[in-house]
Amino acid sequence: SSTRSSVVVIGAGISGISAAKVLAENGIEDLVILEASDRIGGRIRKENFGGVSVELGAGWIAGVGGKESNPVWEIAAQLGIRTCFSDYSNARYNIYDRSGKIFPSGIAADSYKKAVDSAIQKLRDLEANSVDEASKGNDQPLTPKTPIELAIDFILHDFEMAEVEPISTYIDFGEREFLVADERGYEYLLHKMAEDFLFTSEGKILDNRLKLNKVVRELQHSRNGVTVITEDGCVYEANYVILSASIGVLQSDLISFRPPLPRWKTEAIDKCDVMVYTKIFLKFPCKFWPCGPEKEFFIYAHERRGYYTFWQHMENAYPGSNILVVTLTNGESKRVEAQSDEETLKEAMGVLRDMFGPDIPNATGILVPRWWNNRFQRGSYSNYPIISNNQIVNDIKAPVGRIFFTGEHTSERFNGYVHGGYLAGIDTSKAVLEEIRKDERKNENQTFLL
Ligand code: FAD
Repeated sequence: SSTRSSVVVIGAGISGISAAKVLAENGIEDLVILEASDRIGGRIRKENFGGVSVELGAGWIAGVGGKESNPVWEIAAQLGIRTCFSDYSNARYNIYDRSGKIFPSGIAADSYKKAVDSAIQKLRDLEANSVDEASKGNDQPLTPKTPIELAIDFILHDFEMAEVEPISTYIDFGEREFLVADERGYEYLLHKMAEDFLFTSEGKILDNRLKLNKVVRELQHSRNGVTVITEDGCVYEANYVILSASIGVLQSDLISFRPPLPRWKTEAIDKCDVMVYTKIFLKFPCKFWPCGPEKEFFIYAHERRGYYTFWQHMENAYPGSNILVVTLTNGESKRVEAQSDEETLKEAMGVLRDMFGPDIPNATGILVPRWWNNRFQRGSYSNYPIISNNQIVNDIKAPVGRIFFTGEHTSERFNGYVHGGYLAGIDTSKAVLEEIRKDERKNENQTFLL
């Protein structure tokens, strides 16, 4: 048996929760939220590791201190979420080679400047040639070859694209980034948002409009409504669906659409790249890395691009926790996800011994998130091609009949970020509310005619 609700929201990450909250605040009481996993939060997720809360997904509130205020920063401040200021820009002065020597700051700064110039040049070439890809000039920008060039290329392209191209998050909200360092986790913010409209008792959500462990597998849609079918055979009828599954999930075959999505939609979905970003946490019996204000980040230069390149210590967030974080991306993320954590620990220790010598202690624990192999995620966040107009994101966002799309990947200005997901949820629910109001007016007119 099934009942019909006004709206079914698929996914209880930040965008699904913010969408549902706006609907509830606007009088839509009969909504249902279907979440595939056993918790709310999605890519905002803490785990207890080595005695503290570490963030497997989003870790920073990015874009603070600018002319406009970042809404996520505001909510975090209201809730008193503990954060620490983080400054990536020092990372380039802490680059180690394989023998443990730090590159002199002059050389590092010089390499960095060259890489930025070259990246900007590449971007200009791409822009100039986007009409005619084949006609490439002779003055090809420099391709990184040496370990230090590769390391800088990695931090520039996989972490600091703002140095190369304008990114709305930093332009609109400011250049500062704050690391969430709160035992309750980044997800506390989401729980508090959910508590505003869902029934809770003793910190637990007991509202039966939120349904966990409900994996949506099929959406049958027509002019009259949408039928949502879950893996365990449940059926939900809705006037409208808000779908917040990630771009990686949309690219996979987890959810089938009947009738299938139109070509313009599937083509747009396929054009958006999925970035895999993996933070590996390592716990040590004692500290052996340099600390202090400009040492939060350090870089390992290796002949393989992205091989355990980007390191961070957690002493600012949790003094005395003796935890290091190393971040891998894309190919390296997928490689490490496929191997045992023991193997990964061995590799990471090899790298640390290169940098800090053979006598450092072994890690006593390791935590390797697997965002790529998680079928409810299939990656970490969306990454639109550098040279793309807004057409792709607009198509990804555009509704198909009664199915409305949301999630960080539908945010024109802030895709890839928590605030992107948050604002997208608000945006999408407003569009759905407008449709509901239209339906109501239509019904009123019909009643009147009768
Ligand atoms: P999600 O959080 O993915 O929510 C979608 C929900 O849908 C999930 O709960 C999923 O389980 C559910 N779902 C999927 N398929 C189905 C289905 N078939 N049926 C039912 N439910 C389904 N952002 C920042 O601002 N700062 C950072 O520092 C930062 N770092 C990051 C680091 C990592 C490792 C990752 C992974 C992400 C990071 N991000 C960061 C990005 C940020 O986490 C995301 O942009 C944001 O959380 C996405 O929210 P969302 O609601 O769009 O998607």
